[in-house]
Amino acid sequence: MSASAPITQDVHTIPRKPAEGKPNLIGMTRDQMKVALTEIGTPEKQAKMRTGQIWQWLYHWGIADFDAMTNLSKDYRARLAETFVIARPELVTKQVSDDGTRKYLVRIAGGHEVEVVYIPETDRGTLCISSQVGCTLTCSFCHTGTQKLVRNLTTSEIVGQIMLARDDLEEWPQPGTRSEAPRLLSNVVLMGMGEPLYNFENVRDAMLIAMDPEGISLSRRRITLSTSGVVPEIARTAQEIGCQLAVSFHATTDDVRNKLVPINKRWPIAELLDALRSYPKVSNSERITFEYVMLDGVNDSDEDARRLIRLIKGIPAKINLIPFNEWPGAPYKRSSNNRIRAFADIVYDAGYASPVRKPRGEDIMAACGQLKSETERARKSRAQIAQDTGL
Ligand code: SAH
Ligand code: SF4
Repeated sequence: MSASAPITQDVHTIPRKPAEGKPNLIGMTRDQMKVALTEIGTPEKQAKMRTGQIWQWLYHWGIADFDAMTNLSKDYRARLAETFVIARPELVTKQVSDDGTRKYLVRIAGGHEVEVVYIPETDRGTLCISSQVGCTLTCSFCHTGTQKLVRNLTTSEIVGQIMLARDDLEEWPQPGTRSEAPRLLSNVVLMGMGEPLYNFENVRDAMLIAMDPEGISLSRRRITLSTSGVVPEIARTAQEIGCQLAVSFHATTDDVRNKLVPINKRWPIAELLDALRSYPKVSNSERITFEYVMLDGVNDSDEDARRLIRLIKGIPAKINLIPFNEWPGAPYKRSSNNRIRAFADIVYDAGYASPVRKPRGEDIMAACGQLKSETERARKSRAQIAQDTGL
């Protein structure tokens, strides 16, 4: 199918629903906030300045209470509080792994739950966030792909995951102070649940809020969006977000990729590579990360490694090898460590960085592809217990 065919995924056409009840200031773009403030009677001439002031309270200082916005008059604060809320998603549970990884279970409107993982490393701290509840794509090695999609996350729920983690890490600066300390939450990866490019506008607006220099101020170089290969949206990602891109590549022939990442039937390897070739230039980013899950006997031969190198020739790239994380009923096995090493060596010898992703937070089931499965299992076993005990 041609790359210009319209995207007909149902989820993509779900309208961006307004929040129920009072509108949430978190998640509005600057323009939307300006309009919202004008609608409550803020004089047109002041709306931009007021937006700037409120923006700083929300996103620079992390304030969640209108009364703390001391550069606004009491009356104005009261009017804001009557009309709007400042709401993050609800934190349900937090688990901390032996290795310092934190896993948050977060509840969003409608009672849905998503998981967010914070991974501390010596030189950075990475937050892995979700863009959808479930996923409409059905990659055969991914547990999220076996769940039915519930819905797209809103802009507010996406940026809210970052804010909630900063709350937990106590990383908002104290009003009136400057901190020179390195950031605990320095990087964001859109590698949780869902296909971010099937929720393009909300993901884009959330990342633009996270990058805004007067707020959370994350550099676009420290944000990585991972896609399974939604070709028509890749150019838009370069133009409208400009973050780093990772691609779930996972196979070196269309036959195998069709089975692992079925979206390949719509946008096969050659079309995907064409879209990727122009990404670094348009987004002014350094290199693309090729994610490659290591599945025993499926995609992990020396020949695959050599074919991979031939395919990506000319694209500035890093190849991230992900040992398969098994889940109950998964139809694959993880490649042996020796096989992964041999594959990595071939890629490395061809001049590409080939880090093997270390599973982090395994004791709390926070590794790639494990996220939702544990929650589901926990729920299932609670249901099972209820059934067994007749409760
Ligand atoms: N939907 C997006 C982003 C989420 S997944 C995408 O597919 O790119 C983040 C990465 O984890 C992807 O490369 C995905 O293919 C990989 N992944 C999914 N399930 C996995 C598993 N069970 N073991 C290892 N990696 C997995
Ligand atoms: Fe969806 Fe990504 Fe999982 Fe594929 S790998 S089913 S695109 S979350």
